[in-house]
Amino acid sequence: MVDRHRDVIPMSHAQSQDRVLSLPFDNSYSRLPERFYARVEPSPVSAPRLIRLNTALAEQLGLDAEALNTPEGVAFLAGNSIPAGAAPLAMAYAGHQFGQFVPQLGDGRALLMGEVVGRDGQRRDIQLKGSGPTPFSRRGDGRAALGPVLREYLISEAMAALGVPTTRALAAVATGEAVLRERVLPGAVLARVAASHIRVGTFQYFAARGDLEALRLLADHAIARHDPAAADASNPYQAFLAGVVLRQADLVSRWLELGFIHGVMNTDNTTVSGETIDYGPCAFMEGFDPATVFSSIDYAGRYAYGNQPRIMHWNLARLAEALLPLLGEDEDSALANAQEALAGFGPRFEQAWLDGMRRKLGLTTAQEDDPTLVEGLLNVMGGNGADFTLTFRRLGDAAMGETGEAALRDLFTDPASLTPWLQDWRRRLEREPLTPQARRDAMHATNPALIPRNHLVEAALEAATERLDFAPFEEMLDALSRPFEERLGLERYMLPAAPQERVLRTFCGT
Ligand code: AMP
Ligand code: MG
Repeated sequence: MVDRHRDVIPMSHAQSQDRVLSLPFDNSYSRLPERFYARVEPSPVSAPRLIRLNTALAEQLGLDAEALNTPEGVAFLAGNSIPAGAAPLAMAYAGHQFGQFVPQLGDGRALLMGEVVGRDGQRRDIQLKGSGPTPFSRRGDGRAALGPVLREYLISEAMAALGVPTTRALAAVATGEAVLRERVLPGAVLARVAASHIRVGTFQYFAARGDLEALRLLADHAIARHDPAAADASNPYQAFLAGVVLRQADLVSRWLELGFIHGVMNTDNTTVSGETIDYGPCAFMEGFDPATVFSSIDYAGRYAYGNQPRIMHWNLARLAEALLPLLGEDEDSALANAQEALAGFGPRFEQAWLDGMRRKLGLTTAQEDDPTLVEGLLNVMGGNGADFTLTFRRLGDAAMGETGEAALRDLFTDPASLTPWLQDWRRRLEREPLTPQARRDAMHATNPALIPRNHLVEAALEAATERLDFAPFEEMLDALSRPFEERLGLERYMLPAAPQERVLRTFCGT
């Protein structure tokens, strides 16, 4: 009876009337001492409008996606209302920016609203970025412009689809307010999700103050969230450091395998979770060149593509330094323990990278000469301006036989220069067990057809910012959600920029 009666009630109407926004917050960071953060409420905005809600992610997090899509939901995502259970706070942190230590940075335009435990049992932060000023804002306005918000949305979601550990985008909301940068731009708020927002710089903040008690509490908190097994190790803090080192070695290897350039690898933009964070001037390289830099503020090329492993190791050394007081009973043993954990970086990175490159070349076994084979291809690519992504993708087609080689050669200014390498590769493939078809499939599952190409990212952001046309953003988001599939109609996402389309500079836009 009841069920039949229900059928005649227009459900959407009933739902929108009854549904109260309730988020299953379970906050742990806000239980840490007051000096870890500043409690700040988001500043309301005049006309919030939902641009995009990541329904799949909301569900993964155990959130009610439909409720987030109501006016109350959007009010939360815009920072206009604080749902029950939220405990908004701006996290304190320090950081080395381009090698210079800044003892206090902190969330100047972001607020941690709270944590939720997802369907997978994993605890995650929900942060609003662009939600107004905080005590850490310095001279900034605490706001974010629409372009950079959409940029982070697009690229972080593309990274997730490519299988790279990353913060995620839960929603983007236009504020209806203007922000002043070099010119007046529409404002927006990004709802960002992360395994945590604890950075190398968070540890540096307390280390720089000689606040040992806070350092220990922070380390224990991070261990509980990211390295629960370390708690049982003979030296839990060393085990934690070693865990961060391995995660970041794996991460930077994934970046290199995809041609990704982070662009601002400051220690405040380096997580201890091993997730990629802070999509400012990041970009994917097209023509292969290890010296590639996109960021307009990276004058010295500190964060160039090929420098990323070295810089990550440097950042991890800063984490080790900050943790020193916890790492041993005396200075000597602390230093030895720090060095032991840091020494894990090189071998782990080299192995992860070689394994990754073997997969990219369609190799399932390991042979001694493989590093030479990999370097050989990269050398020819570098000398010929070959598109990084397409070279590996088309190599997958060439795995089927020599007829598949023409499109691959087309990517090289001197197509003939690839011949000796192709001969070496084919000889190497003779020692492989897979059939050509299986090899191609495996290669296509690891070498994407689609990456966020800079010129298309810029075009999508421009359409949104200048004309409030979100169609290119939406289309690109959909294209990048399945990066290993060559879908009809999406051909333009697979091609490098024509010379006149190339975008060689990217901006933080903060
Ligand atoms: P980022 O370049 O995004 O990693 O930010 C570096 C530091 O500058 C962090 O402490 C940010 O919170 C702060 N920041 C960046 N943009 C703004 C802004 N518009 N208002 C206030 N603080 C900002
Ligand atoms: Mg940052």
